[in-house]
Amino acid sequence: MNLIKIIQTLQTQEDCIAFLEAKRWGNGKPVCPYCKSTKTCKHNIKGRRQNLQCQDCHKSFGVTVGTIFHHTHLPIQKWLMAIALVADAKKGISSRQLSRNLELPVKTAYSLIMRIRRAFDVKNPELLGNIFEIDENLY
Ligand SMILES: [Zn+2]
Repeated sequence: MNLIKIIQTLQTQEDCIAFLEAKRWGNGKPVCPYCKSTKTCKHNIKGRRQNLQCQDCHKSFGVTVGTIFHHTHLPIQKWLMAIALVADAKKGISSRQLSRNLELPVKTAYSLIMRIRRAFDVKNPELLGNIFEIDENLY
């Protein structure tokens, strides 16, 4: 996934969510991140985006639960671009560079880089929404 592809195909938050859902659950059913049930249904919360609800434990969740995109006010598109930039920068990327590229405050860029690096370090693709096959070749 390079920047051009992200910009062309994932323009809205909804596009990004659909992309993450496809990566995380494939064509299969969404899995409840709390109790692993596959008995889920979509429901709309007024004024907010569509969420999923588990019919076993009744918790509602979105595709970002358990990923580094969870609890963030940043559009997922910026996250995906940040991940592409961090993954692509063989010698590392500075928070200043990232902040310039993505038009973010340096502090935000710094915390993004830290979170993305940590996700790569622990080699947990789930943290990145399974958008990457994490392997040694990444660096
Ligand atoms: Zn559940």
